[in-house]
Amino acid sequence: MSRDELKALIRTVPDFPSHGIQFRDITTLLAHGEGLAASIDHLVEIAADLGADKVAGIEARGFIFGTALALRLGVGFVPLRKAGKLPVETIGEDYALEYGSARLELDPSIVDDNAHVLVVDDLLATGGTAIAATNLLRRAGARVEHALFVVDLPELPGGKALAEAGITPHALVEFAGH
Ligand code: AMP
Repeated sequence: MSRDELKALIRTVPDFPSHGIQFRDITTLLAHGEGLAASIDHLVEIAADLGADKVAGIEARGFIFGTALALRLGVGFVPLRKAGKLPVETIGEDYALEYGSARLELDPSIVDDNAHVLVVDDLLATGGTAIAATNLLRRAGARVEHALFVVDLPELPGGKALAEAGITPHALVEFAGH
């Protein structure tokens, strides 16, 4: 399946979670067997050249694509968890969302010093989530140079923000607007 065919499998829900947001819902892509397999194939194709020692996925939708990608690359998976989920001592990063704030946490002992870690999430919007993920991984000693998404919203400043943080963003499909 082509990237355009994958894009057609992503459902757009207007005004969710708030007025004016076009929510790009990957549920419909995940539920489509051929689409799911093809989306992982396309992610593998991009990631194959990036030399990742580990893949880090952002809870929760980044876990789905990130785990499948790590399996295919033959590397380990690092879960970046929401606050309060890990049973060991963690490091955490707070970051701003459009409304309110959120926190990601990591068990730093599972990241080797200087390991190349590829950040994976479903969607890049402002970049705040991916930058918080990167900061956390870098604090644990990792090198983060690339982030991989299923969807990019290029009219939002995420791509520029990632580039300024030394991260090259990659995405399978793009949607106009917010
Ligand atoms: P950001 O931190 O602004 O780049 O937002 C990225 C995170 O918010 C990702 O984990 C997405 O799952 C979610 N997100 C932000 N905007 C949208 C949108 N328009 N549709 C679906 N998910 C979104």
